[in-house]
This record gives sequence, C-alpha cells and structure tokens, in this order.
Amino acid sequence: MSEGRPTCCALCQNPDLWRQKNFPQGLGVLIVAVGAVTSSIFYAYYMMVWAMGTLMLVALLDMGLYIWMPDVLVCYRCRARHLNVDTEGHPDFDHELFEKYRQEAIRLEEAAREAKS
Ligand SMILES: [Zn+2]
Repeated sequence: MSEGRPTCCALCQNPDLWRQKNFPQGLGVLIVAVGAVTSSIFYAYYMMVWAMGTLMLVALLDMGLYIWMPDVLVCYRCRARHLNVDTEGHPDFDHELFEKYRQEAIRLEEAAREAKS
C-alpha cells in the first residue's frame, strides 16, 4: 500500500532522502558470510558440488530478498524511515551527502556544548 510520494522528511522537512531496501544490513552480511564459510569448508573437503551449490543457494537467496523486500526512504538528517511510500524517483545512498549531514550534526553538537559552558 502506497501512501503518496513524499518530497521531504515527515519529521524534519528535510528534502534529502535516500532509498534503500527494508532489510537489516547486518543480517544480509551474516547470510553471505555464513554461505562463504560453509562453501569454504565443503571446498576444503573436495566436495565441489556442495561448495558451488552453497554459493548458488546464497546467491539465489540474496537475489530473492532483493526482489521481494520493499523499499523505504531514509532521511539524511534525522534518519527517519518512511515505510509504505512511493520511492520512485528518489536516489540511492550518496556518501558525499551523508558526510555533509554528519558534519552538520557534529557542528551543531559542538555549538550546543559551547553554549552550555
Ligand atoms: Zn528527517
């Protein structure tokens, strides 16, 4: 169900949002790591069919998750995740933009700390 196409963050009104899969990245890395280790163990015991089969299974699982998991929009400033929205036309993650907002947060934090002291 789509609840419209947001042009800015619903929480802080920031127009910079990135699109990503609604799936925990750590779990994705864990799946690939377990597949690689399992495949290496089969390879070490010269079980080539099982070694390649494990890699193929992990690749299929990864592809399936990529296809079936829905997209979410994440705000660069406050990291709010917008679910059930139309993500069409929004860009993928941009490291340069992320760094800009990270530096902004550091400056604001330092300014708040100096104002207290
Ligand atoms: Zn925001």
